[in-house]
Amino acid sequence: MRISIVGLEDDRFTRPLELIANLFFEESKVFIEGSKEADVQINFTLKDLESAVRVSAELKDTNGNIQFSEYQKELKPYHSEKEYFKQIKNAVSHVYLTVLQDWTGMIQKWGILTGVRPTKLLHKKIQEGVPPEIAHRELKEEYLISDEKIELMQQIVDRQLAVIPDLYSLQKEVSIYIGIPFCPTKCAYCTFPAYAINGRQGSVDSFLGGLHYEMRQIGEWLKKKGIKITTVYYGGGTPTSITAEEMDMLYEEMYTSFPDVKNIREITVEAGRPDTITREKLEVLKKWNIDRISINPQSYTQETLKAIGRHHTVTETIEKYQLARSMGMNNINMDLIIGLPGEGTQEFAHSLAETEKLMPESLTVHTLSFKRASEMTKNKEKYKVADRTEVEHMMELAQNWTAARGYVPYYLYRQKNILGNLENVGYALPNQESLYNIIIMEETQTIIGLGCGASSKFIDPVTGKITHFANPKDPKSYNENFKAYTDKKINILEELFSEKGSPA
Ligand code: SF4
Repeated sequence: MRISIVGLEDDRFTRPLELIANLFFEESKVFIEGSKEADVQINFTLKDLESAVRVSAELKDTNGNIQFSEYQKELKPYHSEKEYFKQIKNAVSHVYLTVLQDWTGMIQKWGILTGVRPTKLLHKKIQEGVPPEIAHRELKEEYLISDEKIELMQQIVDRQLAVIPDLYSLQKEVSIYIGIPFCPTKCAYCTFPAYAINGRQGSVDSFLGGLHYEMRQIGEWLKKKGIKITTVYYGGGTPTSITAEEMDMLYEEMYTSFPDVKNIREITVEAGRPDTITREKLEVLKKWNIDRISINPQSYTQETLKAIGRHHTVTETIEKYQLARSMGMNNINMDLIIGLPGEGTQEFAHSLAETEKLMPESLTVHTLSFKRASEMTKNKEKYKVADRTEVEHMMELAQNWTAARGYVPYYLYRQKNILGNLENVGYALPNQESLYNIIIMEETQTIIGLGCGASSKFIDPVTGKITHFANPKDPKSYNENFKAYTDKKINILEELFSEKGSPA
């Protein structure tokens, strides 16, 4: 869809207006200075009323249909032009979304929000002392979020604060993410650093050498500074792709290098691909007291697994889950994906019925997203996916199914190009929530990323400013540069946790 915009004349509007248009149409193009080639034209008028702004938008399509919307917004005190523009941008987005909704008849339940972390908005209001009913009203008025999604946000925020009562004051500690970039094969929708492990032992050895080095250096720095670790999360890739001996050495390194490991609140190891799980590896996890793992079916339909490049069977998922259970693993997460190629309500209902037989402690329900670099996006025509109505229906099924079985939603995030403009939701049985997932989604604490492709997120304890820093994604450049990357991270940490920056 090509959209001609008249009356805004500021390039900074292009991206947000395009993101909103993409909620309605595939691959939209917005022409901020107008275009004669467009499918539809929207004329904006902006009136600055000093303490408020009034925005109106008139949409005209090539068939002569017209939609009109107007919105007046009181301006909050602002300290920079950037803050001022953000408020104007939100007001423009408000009328823009309204005319597009009226024109297409499609309602966007997340309103003008196109970002990843909607619950952060509600946390911010709570921290500012805004009472819930006012916070809800503001979310509805400013962002046009539906009651249904506001209720979901509140439920999640309540759960997060119940599970981590000190969520707003965790800046004195850090969490650690460890990335292991190998998998048995690459899934079609994947954009994570995940290299097929077979025949790469040389590369695995050097990678692990680098990772052990990073763990020692960062651990030593944390000990020197007296900084505690809240959670540790092994992700990737599939951290159980390496051998049982390699896992054993890695966790030994963690216990030797990291401070006070016994008091870390949670250690998770993703064992996402059932084909990597063995009795020996589970024994290693038990030996090091790691009992939160993730075993990910994604679907219980064999043809789907084949179509998305996961070379394991449904039976294998169930058997490995039962093996883990029989060996005392008492906090298992499972992931399902709504809208996988060829799947509709029937297949998803089947996945839920199979999940019922296993009852993992937590269940993360993803909605398929077409990530730009994935094989699925590159060959989109090969993969037939359900339409918006069916995807919404499957999401509703997941909500009702989880609620009826005692699971409560405890974190959510959204992605670009996600089917039906929906979300990914983590559900858990009470007190089985992943603390790491909450911390990473709500961005309340520095997370230090170690290993290949691991992203660090440094949060200034005083200003809340976030700095991202990513390790190299491919093992080769990681192996060549891990020392320099470790030094850079330590320099950033020094600055962040210096006397001046250190939280009281
Ligand atoms: S198992 Fe996970 S990390 Fe590995 S290829 Fe599949 S989606 Fe990517």
